[in-house]
Amino acid sequence: MENFEGKLFVFSAPSGSGKTTIVRHLLGQEKFNLEFSISATSREPRGFEVDGKDYYFISLKEFKENIKNDAFLEWEEVYRDNFYGTLKTEVERIWAQGKHVIFDIDVVGGLRIKKKFPDKTLAVFVKPPSVDELKIRLKKRKTESDEKINMRIAKASVELATAPQFDKIIKNYDLEVALKEAEDLVGEYLGLNQ
Ligand code: 5GP
Repeated sequence: MENFEGKLFVFSAPSGSGKTTIVRHLLGQEKFNLEFSISATSREPRGFEVDGKDYYFISLKEFKENIKNDAFLEWEEVYRDNFYGTLKTEVERIWAQGKHVIFDIDVVGGLRIKKKFPDKTLAVFVKPPSVDELKIRLKKRKTESDEKINMRIAKASVELATAPQFDKIIKNYDLEVALKEAEDLVGEYLGLNQ
């Protein structure tokens, strides 16, 4: 571990683009030695989500205290009253284990991480086929109300415009192809592809 140089892999995209599937796939590849950055959020857990695994679910009050105490590397009010953020302790925790950090975060947060650690971060934007396809995927997922889906769709166009600011763009039109591309990018950044 003496020569360990911790890297950061940011995967950002509009909600429903499939970035979570890609991140999970990469986490399953032992050779990459990745650990998921668990974000803190003030939103309610969805049925299957586990505190301390998917997110640290905290109250709005606690979230705001953390902001005041400068405990976040980045944070964002991604949707109204739904705050999300990366705690500084999270990256420290993962690097201390000799692992690289992988993030599943929104585009603004992703670009902030890149700005803070430009030489250690690979920032990847996951592009959906179209905004219409996003809507179909979100409806199929059945985890949000119509109102929430519309909120996410409205945000998607703004998010899509940030794609050129990322180091790499993966088009998620065909999941198998996207997964392979993601593997190649991470492998290349870690110098495993020689
Ligand atoms: P969801 O509610 O679907 O879990 O997440 C909503 C959005 O918030 C997604 O785009 C997700 O990637 C993003 N997100 C999750 N954690 C963080 C975080 O720590 N910081 C930021 N800026 N966004 C996050």
